[in-house]
Amino acid sequence: MASIACLAMMGAAIGLASVELWRERATSWHLVRSLAVATAVCAVYYLGRTAGLALLGPESPTFQLLFGAGVTLLMAMVLLVVVSSSITALNNARRTEDLKELASRDALTGLLNRGGYLQQAQQRLRANLDAGVETAIVMADLDRFKAINDRFGHDAGDSVIRAFSDACRSTLRAADLVGRYGGEEFAMLLTGVDAEEGVRIAQRINAALAEHSGLPDGAGAPTASFGIVDTRNKAAGLQRLMREADRALYEAKAAGRSRAVVGLAMAGKEARLTS
Ligand code: GH3
Ligand code: MG
Ligand code: MG
Repeated sequence: MASIACLAMMGAAIGLASVELWRERATSWHLVRSLAVATAVCAVYYLGRTAGLALLGPESPTFQLLFGAGVTLLMAMVLLVVVSSSITALNNARRTEDLKELASRDALTGLLNRGGYLQQAQQRLRANLDAGVETAIVMADLDRFKAINDRFGHDAGDSVIRAFSDACRSTLRAADLVGRYGGEEFAMLLTGVDAEEGVRIAQRINAALAEHSGLPDGAGAPTASFGIVDTRNKAAGLQRLMREADRALYEAKAAGRSRAVVGLAMAGKEARLTS
């Protein structure tokens, strides 16, 4: 009786583990699924063995044939091989995912790097265009940043770059993307945002940057300039939108810095200035 209860509990526990594995939504889900199938087979076997023991008894030739020591040993060996190789493959898949994530991040700020940003922004822009969701593309550049480096040193410059990335993180929402595009240049993709709203977001980023607690002493409040376009003219791809945003950023610099310019060049109209 005790062995029947023990076998039933074992089968049920393995069955539950199998259900949990089946529900797992990891990137390497096919590996998790194979593990789930292996554990499900194991659960069925143990539940079958429980039923066999209860209905046929341990001495029954049918029980011995289906669930005897030899079959159980073979079953355990096959399962051991399947489970251990699946776990090894799963570990490798997770490590590859971690490395991919690491390769797409900027070491100084933890933001997406250029490659990581471009890859994710392409996907997000396509998805937003398909869903008819307005999207703003922003290029930002810290103002007179070289002077900070020259006067306060490279470490102080680095802390301003980190402060800007913190300001972006605290201002943007989870659905937005921000990447460090070059030295003190950043790219953003704002979902559900038009260019006018993009300007307000840029102003909030500059306000958060000015209030950051990690700025170098005596450096004053650093600022950034922004060039912004949105997807109202739907024909443009990411590269073209970024080029237009970059042109608007250049105009923001020329107009005195610490401001956002909306680029409307795609429609052949004059850029509008908003400080
Ligand atoms: P502008 O307002 O026109 O943008 O002027 P700027 O001085 O910000 O621009 P400029 O292109 O003249 O200088 C950018 C400087 O950024 C030069 C480069 O040495 C510095 N820089 C680039 N990457 C890093 C970095 O990772 N850390 C630090 N501290 N400085 C960097
Ligand atoms: Mg600059
Ligand atoms: Mg620059």
